Amino acid sequence: MGPGPSGVPKRVLAAMARPTIGHLDPEFILFMDSMKQLLQRTFLCEYGLTIPVSGPGTVGMESCVVNLLEPGDTIVVCINGFFGERLAIMAERCGAKVVRVHETWGRAIDPDKVDAALRAAPKAKVLAFVQAETSTGVLSDAKALARLAREHDCLSLVDAVTSIGGTPLRVGAWDIDVVYAGTQKCLSAPPGLSPVTVNDRAMAMIKERKHPVQSWFMDFRLLQGYWGMSTRRSYHHTAPINALYGLHEALLMLHEESLELAWVRHRRHHNALRAGLKVLGLELVVPAQERLPQLNVVKVPQGIEEAKTRDWLLKVRGLEIGGGLGALAGKVWRIGLMGHSCRSRTIEVCLRALAEVVDDPRKGRVALRAAMDEL
Ligand code: PLP
Repeated sequence: MGPGPSGVPKRVLAAMARPTIGHLDPEFILFMDSMKQLLQRTFLCEYGLTIPVSGPGTVGMESCVVNLLEPGDTIVVCINGFFGERLAIMAERCGAKVVRVHETWGRAIDPDKVDAALRAAPKAKVLAFVQAETSTGVLSDAKALARLAREHDCLSLVDAVTSIGGTPLRVGAWDIDVVYAGTQKCLSAPPGLSPVTVNDRAMAMIKERKHPVQSWFMDFRLLQGYWGMSTRRSYHHTAPINALYGLHEALLMLHEESLELAWVRHRRHHNALRAGLKVLGLELVVPAQERLPQLNVVKVPQGIEEAKTRDWLLKVRGLEIGGGLGALAGKVWRIGLMGHSCRSRTIEVCLRALAEVVDDPRKGRVALRAAMDEL
């Protein structure tokens, strides 16, 4: 129940243990088509370049940044936590002019501030933001921000590493241009792959670049040749076959449940956890309307040692939760309810253990009842 990786179902692990076949084997080519279709169903888009990039979420992030930006370009980056700043640093390394729109850690990005920043930077090529800030447990309004990008005639770039599979993300309907995501949070596949989707508008812009993308490995045009529609796929790199089996199985499981029902499950279990935490006297940091269901940031009560408690939970109760990052370090716990870890059983384990921490087992029983009533 940390901020990811979440638990991986046995069915996914079993899929990864299937025999490794060649990445140009005709069977594998069929598998690649199926993978792309499943990813499109997950992003809710129909874009040509919708593929899993070989590498963790950070590689997905960097691939998008290096493909979209050239030296001298302007990008507006929204920063309300750790990962927004990482995006900004990557953009600077591409030689881009970065306009940072800061928001208090623990609050959603304010569309009015972004609008003002885009007005002040009329040449901005990209607006980038993190939909679900894992460092602070905040959900920003991706639909409103993507609309602002369109109004100001720039591309939207969205970090959906933690949001995908856990909270609504409708890439096509919201007209988002480029998204990168992660496998190890609400999709419940192991880490190491980053699903990415790039629409035709962004692809056309990439094709018009003055300079080639400085990273050969991450160049989307080359990756399109590898993952493209044609039957004549060209070798690019040796795909991580077994990791892809795992992601494919995890996506099948997600769509067996249905994407919409998975979103509902995350919200419902978040409500249950919140009800239980309240009984234990534990407060959430983020205002109700901006909370991310899959990542609950809890204030550490006075007199309780943050890191020692996490250590005890892990060693004695077998429960992993996360600590705070940056300004929140030492002050909060981050409790994940992601994918396969988002179940009533994990909430029960968590509330029972936290009741011991706050040293009131009776409260623990009441907290559990409150949580189960909520479910
Ligand atoms: N973006 C967000 C919002 C994340 O939470 C993370 C990882 O936790 C990343 C990007 C980076 O992903 P990875 O650790 O898989 O490289």
